[in-house]
Order: sequence, then structure tokens, then C-alpha cells
Amino acid sequence: MDRGLRAEYLQTLGIDVWVQRAGVAGSQGAAVATQTLEPIVPAGPLSRATQAVAARDAVAQPPAAVIAAPGDTEWAGRWEALREEVLRCTRCSLHAGRTQGVFGVGNPRAEWMVIGEAPGAEEDRRGEPFVGRAGQLLDAMLRAIGLSRAQNVYIANVLKSRPPNNRDPRPEEVGACLPYLRRQIELVRPRLLLAVGRIAAQNLLGTEESLSRLRGRVHRFGELNTPLVVTYHPAYLLRTPADKRKAWEDLKFARSVFRQLTAGSEDGHRS
Ligand code: URA
Repeated sequence: MDRGLRAEYLQTLGIDVWVQRAGVAGSQGAAVATQTLEPIVPAGPLSRATQAVAARDAVAQPPAAVIAAPGDTEWAGRWEALREEVLRCTRCSLHAGRTQGVFGVGNPRAEWMVIGEAPGAEEDRRGEPFVGRAGQLLDAMLRAIGLSRAQNVYIANVLKSRPPNNRDPRPEEVGACLPYLRRQIELVRPRLLLAVGRIAAQNLLGTEESLSRLRGRVHRFGELNTPLVVTYHPAYLLRTPADKRKAWEDLKFARSVFRQLTAGSEDGHRS
């Protein structure tokens, strides 16, 4: 990724980026360097230029459905059947209060899969995961490591229906919904799972260990033993921006794990 663009994504994440400032006028070739290091102040929303690049990148991609199943009608049929099952699911009481089920978004043949907790109000309205403020931050986090929901990541939640008042999922709700996520993961077959937040991580790993203890390690999930890395939930990071730097460490860790997993292979598992 272009360095300037990446720096801008990191700014959006709220991470200080140190850049070299050119020396003062006339210092070229001077014996004593006059370069200084200057922090870029964490910025607000993406600049117009970045938005334009991001929009261009998004539209340059074929729709997810096209990427998903080139000629693989059986796969597409199973995926569609699962989606329909989720959307009409009544396995737990949450179905009564939802506007709609939230299945997932992105490229269902992606090598990265991000797992969150449950839809919030905006996601419930729009039928897509992570579309509120936390979703915007998640997108910035993903972009900083070269990922985008329009292209190379699939995003889903542990729960497909919104819990009232955004309360934590109850064990019986997770018990009812997790099999759907398992089937999604088995169909997507990602190389790496990124669990965002304590609730997603603990439910996927069947543990009560704290998020801080789960970070920085490669876990395994499900029948396929899919590698899983844990980081903070973007909603938490909005409330606790001081931890964004740790989230950035997690993202770099995930990226290096992914690179090791795929080193020397040319997307072989999808042919
Ligand atoms: N938080 C989540 O965990 N998932 C969403 O889809 C939105 C917010």
C-alpha cells in the first residue's frame, strides 16, 4: 500500500505516525542534518483524497457475489441456503425484537474473516455488520493492513440478531447462533480469523480468559483448526483511544501471522 495513504489510515485510527520532515531551506548537502521528527496529529474523518481513493478501490472490485463463486454453483447454493436460514431464524427470543437478521458482509471467499459480537441499532436497521461509528473505525483498522470489506475480508458476528439495548449476548443466544457462524466459517474457509472484542473472542474460544491475556497469541478455532488472532473491539477503542496503539500492534501481529501462513502458497486452498 502507498505509504502516504497508509499513514493517513493510521491517522484516522488515531495512531501517531512519526515522519521525517525535510531540512530547512538551504540545508541540502549540509554537514549537519537539520531533519527533525514530527508527530502527525491524530486526525478526524478520512480526507477527501483518501475517501476518493477508497471509493475508487471499492468500485474497482467486482461485487462479492461474483468473487464468491466462480462457477461453483453448489457452494453458492449452500451459502444462499445458509443466509436464508439465518434471516428467518427463530431459534432464540432475539428474533422477536429485531428488524432483520444480520448475516454478514464482504467477500465470502476472502482469506481473512473478522468476527464481532452482535449487531447494534444501525446494523439492525441496515442489515449489515459494523456500519455505525465502530464500523467506520473497523474499516480504518482493516485498511491500515490492506483489507477492505469490498474486496478481501468477510465480516460477521457471533449473534445475527440485535440484543436489546446492546446488552451482552446470553449463553443460550450464543448457543443458538454459533452453529451458523461455524457453517459460515466452513464455507468461507478463511486463512485467518480476527476476533474483535472480548465477547467474540471468549465465545469463539470457549474461555473466560481476559482479552489482554488472549491478545498476541495464535489460537485455533473449529473443525478446520483455523488460526485465530484477537484484538480490541472498535467500540471499546472509541471509548478508550489510548489503547489504539495496542490494537495497531495486534493488527501488525495478525498481518505477520497471515504472511507466515500464506508464505510460498498461491491461494492454493481455493482452487
Ligand atoms: N459491534 C459488533 O460487534 N458487531 C456489529 O456488527 C456492530 C457493532
